[in-house]
Amino acid sequence: MSIKLATSQPPAPSRRELRFGAAWPYSPAKEGTGPVRLRERYEHFIGGERRAPEGGVYYATVSPATEEPLAEVARGDEADVERAVHAARQAFEPWSRLPGLERGKYLFRIARAIQERARELAIVESMDGGKPIKESRDFDVPQAAQTFFYYAGWADKLTHAFHGRPVRPLGVAGQIIPWNFPLLMAAWKLAPALACGNTVVLKPAETTPLTALLLSEIIEAAELPPGVVNVVTGFGDAGAALVRHPGVDKVAFTGSTAVGKQIQKALAGTRRRLTLELGGKGAHLVFQDAPLDQAVEGVIQGIFFNQGHVCCAGSRLLVEESIADALLVKLKARIQTLNVGDPLDKNTDIGAINSKEQLERIQALVAAGEAEGAERYSAPLPVKERGYFFPPTVFTRVAQSSRLAQEEIFGPVLSVLTFRTESEAVEKANNTFYGLSAGIWTNKSARVFDLAGKLEAGVVWGNTYNQFDPSSPFGGYKESGFGREGGRQGLASYLHVG
Ligand code: NAP
Ligand code: MG
Repeated sequence: MSIKLATSQPPAPSRRELRFGAAWPYSPAKEGTGPVRLRERYEHFIGGERRAPEGGVYYATVSPATEEPLAEVARGDEADVERAVHAARQAFEPWSRLPGLERGKYLFRIARAIQERARELAIVESMDGGKPIKESRDFDVPQAAQTFFYYAGWADKLTHAFHGRPVRPLGVAGQIIPWNFPLLMAAWKLAPALACGNTVVLKPAETTPLTALLLSEIIEAAELPPGVVNVVTGFGDAGAALVRHPGVDKVAFTGSTAVGKQIQKALAGTRRRLTLELGGKGAHLVFQDAPLDQAVEGVIQGIFFNQGHVCCAGSRLLVEESIADALLVKLKARIQTLNVGDPLDKNTDIGAINSKEQLERIQALVAAGEAEGAERYSAPLPVKERGYFFPPTVFTRVAQSSRLAQEEIFGPVLSVLTFRTESEAVEKANNTFYGLSAGIWTNKSARVFDLAGKLEAGVVWGNTYNQFDPSSPFGGYKESGFGREGGRQGLASYLHVG
């Protein structure tokens, strides 16, 4: 599809100026705070060059807060994937032979450039994906830089990572990422793969390609050898072509469990390696002895961070029955204070839902919950003529077997269940196909350690939630996937360890 971009003023050649929300501290007079410019059209990044899609097809990526197109982006197909895998294969031999210290230098350069372009990356992330600017500014972008810094440090120490066992890179990695943390997921994928000496073809999500493309500009400016990183934008069919391609030695996928299962089937019986980071239905346990106000803040952070578009979101609140009423009063009062609206307003707590499709998915699950007899409480939603928004919502009287308690909603919707004993809490928390995350609020630290071993979850937080660090491994059990990203363990996903 060809699109025409609405420009109010004549732009500089091939670039255009974007308007921000009024609350963004925009001051053209100050160095480094000028307008962010996007290209009208973005091509693939293949073999170190900007390459038009073989099929000649582009699509519009839109701002979910305004429904306006932001830029045209290449829609990749099998032929583009073929070119990208070929480029990555050509680059593999020299890149993998480079001393780790040299590879590390490139990664340090990328990390610093992310910091230098932090403001631009944060704004574009919020415009393209809908997340509040305070999150992209204070979380996504700094974490992305940290991830490159962290793995840059490993690049020359790989032989020490596995007790002296010999290691070698896998080859060409095909990496497919979702739309909820577009830049950060790209960093989680690229940094360890490159540090270990692999080359990469990255497929960003169709609704949020822009920051991965800006990252490819950073990579180009850092003068990585051509073909070491290739970015093919497009839809699910481009992802599927990458999975199918026999020249890909390793597939790393973050996304839905449904697509993860398809990918696992496609690779079954081959010698190609796979890691899957899939969905979740995190249990957030609050015990009677927990500091209540802090626990409420933790629960809010656990479910409403990034509009609830978080695979490890604490979407099932399990609260001890004796304090349930008191906690709910505080929770309902607190969600009324959350600002829902313009992602570029620095006071916004909950931005736009990433896409119309995702909004419809949330609405359908919420309607199913109401039909099943759960009780809904939503904060009022400011009237918006355009854009995709959903109010922070809490459901009580949720049955264990209901869709609200079982299915991943991936939106700002919390389901509340209660328990009377610790063993009942564990049983309910583990009553899910997923196994990605859990949180525990209690005054007894011994209970945190005890329960951490009993909860079937890849990450368990104690008296906090949604805390991340590049040195800490992340990943799932059960239908939340396998393999780890982050930390020393994240290196194993990109190496043959002898
Ligand atoms: P998705 O539909 O599975 O898409 C993920 C990525 O895969 C996108 O780039 C998508 O392209 C691509 N894709 C779609 N169909 C494909 C296929 N048949 N073969 C190969 N690639 C394909 O998931 P999503 O809706 O983008 O993301 C939400 C889901 O991701 C949630 O379930 C969430 O829990 C999960 N998630 C998990 C983690 C984790 O670390 N465990 C982190 C973030 C998100 P398109 O964009 O064109 O569809
Ligand atoms: Mg978009």
